[in-house]
Amino acid sequence: MAHTIFERIIQREIPATIEYEDDDIIAIRDIAPSARLHVLIIPKRAIASVDALSDADAELVGKVFLVARDLARTFGVHESGYRVVTNTNGDAGQTVPHIHFHLLAGEPLGRMNSGTERSHAAPKGGMLRDAGLIVLCALGLAITFNAMNSKSIPWLKKEYERITLDSSEITKYITPTAEPQQQPIAQPQQPTAAQPQQQVPTATVAEQQLKQEQPTFVPAPGVVREITYTQFKTFLNAGPYYLIDARGAEKYAEGHIANAVNFYGGEAEARIPDMLQAVPKDRVILIYCDGGECELSHHVADVLKRFAYGPIFIYTGGWAEWITKK
Ligand code: 5GP
Repeated sequence: MAHTIFERIIQREIPATIEYEDDDIIAIRDIAPSARLHVLIIPKRAIASVDALSDADAELVGKVFLVARDLARTFGVHESGYRVVTNTNGDAGQTVPHIHFHLLAGEPLGRMNSGTERSHAAPKGGMLRDAGLIVLCALGLAITFNAMNSKSIPWLKKEYERITLDSSEITKYITPTAEPQQQPIAQPQQPTAAQPQQQVPTATVAEQQLKQEQPTFVPAPGVVREITYTQFKTFLNAGPYYLIDARGAEKYAEGHIANAVNFYGGEAEARIPDMLQAVPKDRVILIYCDGGECELSHHVADVLKRFAYGPIFIYTGGWAEWITKK
């Protein structure tokens, strides 16, 4: 059977903005949102719809609602209100045959059946009651499951690994070329009639010297370290690097560190193909954003780390500190 769009997103064949992920569930932003907040909560196993669920899936469905609850809290809509719905087959308008739950919020959502013309008030009221009951049952099931299970759902806000670079480690990543190649010293030759003086190709010698002075690149896939201003300057001065400004395009346009390329951290997931094409793997990667609480650099680093880039260094002082040091 051909893979659905959601399976391809789960397999990372197609980019999506991921809001939550664990072994069983992924939650992504809907590509065509029907409300200010529209997240799709998708069990990873290929189940076509609610109709294809088995009794053994009760735990999984319960977990979906716990993810919805936690996402609603993360996005701060748990008090204003939200809706969790799932469409099953044609009449409900299911377009992707892989079970998923829509989490809608961020604005008044209107009546549940506002998309259809209905003249019978009684059945609609009944349907709403049934839907409410189903949601309540699922929530009850979910809460019971969580209370009984030691494997509780983790906090949804992504916690990034924050390891600072020990200055003594810098030499690990800035390694001078092992042994400068002994070049035969070009002795000035006396021209003879038979052998005209050979021109020493000066550019080539200069290039070779430059090459010798540059550090060798020591790949460290997946290594992400936070660095200080002084360490950042050391990397800038040391040699080949790829510098990423993870702030938004407007801020980047107002001013950025020389040679920085702009990849907005908020779109890191959506721009994976661009990044893979642009970012070289043969040099250290330096990333900065605003500084302070800014996590945009970490979003970019997280994506690159997944694709085996490294070492990656995050200049935590960021733009805010940089402009005070100029
Ligand atoms: P359904 O109509 O099956 O209940 O919901 C399918 C949802 O998937 C729709 O809201 C649609 O906008 C969303 N969708 C379809 N293709 C993609 C995609 O490629 N990426 C994302 N993020 N959402 C998609």
